[in-house]
Parts: sequence; structure tokens; C-alpha cells
Amino acid sequence: MEFDRDTLISWLEEKDTTRLEHLYSGAYRTKVSTVGDKVYLRGLVEISNICCKNCLYCGIRRDNHAAGRYEISSEEVLQSAEFAYKEGYASLVIQGGERTDRAFIDRITSLLKEIKRRWPLGITLSLGEQPLEVYREWFGAGAHRYLLRIESSSRELYEKIHPVDSLHSYDSRVQALKDLRTVGYQVGTGVMIGLPFQTAAHLADDLLFFRSLDIDMCGMGPYLEHSQTPLYQYRSMLLPQTERLELSIKMVALLRLLMPDINIAATTAMQAIDPNGRERAILAGANVLMPNLTLAEVREEYQIYQNKPGVGEDAAISSSRTEQRLNEMKIPIGWGQWGDSKHFEKR
Ligand code: SAH
Ligand code: SF4
Repeated sequence: MEFDRDTLISWLEEKDTTRLEHLYSGAYRTKVSTVGDKVYLRGLVEISNICCKNCLYCGIRRDNHAAGRYEISSEEVLQSAEFAYKEGYASLVIQGGERTDRAFIDRITSLLKEIKRRWPLGITLSLGEQPLEVYREWFGAGAHRYLLRIESSSRELYEKIHPVDSLHSYDSRVQALKDLRTVGYQVGTGVMIGLPFQTAAHLADDLLFFRSLDIDMCGMGPYLEHSQTPLYQYRSMLLPQTERLELSIKMVALLRLLMPDINIAATTAMQAIDPNGRERAILAGANVLMPNLTLAEVREEYQIYQNKPGVGEDAAISSSRTEQRLNEMKIPIGWGQWGDSKHFEKR
């Protein structure tokens, strides 16, 4: 469907619930007719919250000394991978703080090789910006999808939510996304929604940015304030959380109409606002869900935002809840299938 910038902005500002229901059900139908009605599950492992960066919004930023740091052992990652495989998830997401030291890079490389040696799992990485050679090394070791959110496609807003220095450069972020494509990954990006200083025009531009980058996957979610971060000082500027969620659902629906055959995730931050947040996203066009497999003992430490759902639960509880919800909604699950981006396959 063709949407110009002004149409996108007016949808993002739309308040009429009947019109919005039409938008969401239209996006759902588009999903079913292009990528099918199934939801694909990826087990999420939050491998470590040690991070060398200082993003102004994030609870595990380097300078938050109140965050206890952890790194889960390779044996524990393998246990999660086995759990995912046995549950029939078929894919794993390994996410964590950004580190560029050789020891970390090597550890990920050998983990990838070991996982691929043992199980035919699809692997997505989300480990931040890395040099092209590292992306290549990990691709060679078995990862084939990568998530790196642009966070905001507006340079000006990007620079308001990150320190302005060589470690947090907008240009390097965009370059990293291009490098991932060069190496051959299915490339996923996304933004936070409801950030301080963010307007409907910024979000419309984000959607157009995704299209111009020709992305294969997208994960977006509401921004959630964290009291131990610098951005918390702007909390009085924020929309109520329920409105940030509504905006996120609109973004999912509009993106599905704009890029019908990509994979779009229903994210945990949506569920943080409303227990049915991710299900609402699925009914507005999302087709990927990432149940958290991180060990219960360290979940509390991986708090990129506060009140993250599922803290204290273990993998079995998180995943059976997810499955139960999808069953109740009569949404079929793509058991045992990688569920790769159709958009990527067509390219
Ligand atoms: N370090 C990697 C991956 C872990 S962070 C990276 O930054 O790419 C994963 C995502 O969490 C980030 O891309 C960001 O969009 C999101 N995030 C961080 N802080 C958040 C907050 N306060 N509210 C909502 N999402 C947040
Ligand atoms: Fe680190 Fe990612 Fe958080 Fe930035 S968003 S501080 S890179 S974990």
C-alpha cells in the first residue's frame, strides 16, 4: 500500500478507535495473505548485561553502577538452546550488552559453532555495533539474522538520546546496518516509541527509513523510563504508557502495510505496559514472538527498563504462558520452523 509521509503522520495522530480497528484488522489481513497466519517463536537468551556503551535511556548502560553485572556461562546458553530446540522453537536470539574485546568475540564464535553442531537452530544475534570482520566471523560460525535498532532514524533525536562521541555515532550505526547487509545477514532494525522529544513526524520518518534501508525484520517497542538513567529527567514530557503502547501498535500496523513481507516482532516492552500488549501487536500485523529463556537467577539484572515482565519466572513458565495465550487467541504457531523473512528470501 502507498503511504506518503503526511498520511503516516495523520494515522499516527489518529484517535478514532473505529478507524484504528480498521487499520489494525487491515494490517492483520495483509500479514495473513503475504507471510501467513503463523507466529514464529524465537527463544531469547540475554547472555550478559556488561556493556561498554552509555545510551542515555538504558538501565544497563556502563555508568549505571547500581546494576549488578552478570555473564551467563556457555554451558547455560547451551542449556537454553536445548530447551528452545526441545520446545520446538527452531530459533534462538542471543542478545546482550555491547562488547568489542577479543575474548568476547571469540566466546560468541565458539558458542555459535557449538550450538550449530548440536541442533539445527536458526540463530539471531543482537550484540550491538561490531566491525564488519566480526559480523563476518559470526556469520561464518552460524548466525544468520542480526537485530540492531537504529533507535531513532532522526540524527537530531539520536543525538539527544545518546552521548555525542565516537562510541555513539549515528553514522556508525547506519554503517553497521549496511555492513550486516553486505555480510549476508537478514537485517533487523527498529526504534523506541514514545521517547522524549519524539514527534509523529519522527516516527513517520522512521517507517520510511525502514523501507529505504529495505530491512528484512523489525522489532520496535515503547520507550520505558528507567530511574537510573539520564533520560529519566525528561519523564514529565512523556505520553502516558498506554498511549506509548497504542502508538507502538500503530507503528506495527503501518509497517506491515508498508512492507508486507518482512518479519515484525511483538516485543517484551509492549507486554510491560499491558499483559496483552504483544497479542495486540500480533492482531495488528506482528508475526514473531521471543519468549524469554534467560535463567530466572539473572533476569532481574537484565533490566534495560524497569518493571520488565517475567522477572522471577523461569523459561518453562514464560514459554508455557506464551503458548497458552496464542492458543486462546487461535493463532497458530510455526513449530519447528525457522520462519525466516520472506522479504529476504525474495531478494
Ligand atoms: N546492546 C544491544 C542489544 C541490547 S539492548 C543494542 O543496544 O543493540 C536492546 C534494545 O533494548 C535496544 O536496542 C533498545 O531499543 C532497547 N531499550 C534499551 N533501553 C530501553 C528502555 N529504557 N525502554 C525501552 N527499550 C529500551
Ligand atoms: Fe548497551 Fe544496548 Fe543498553 Fe546501549 S542499549 S547501553 S548498547 S545494552
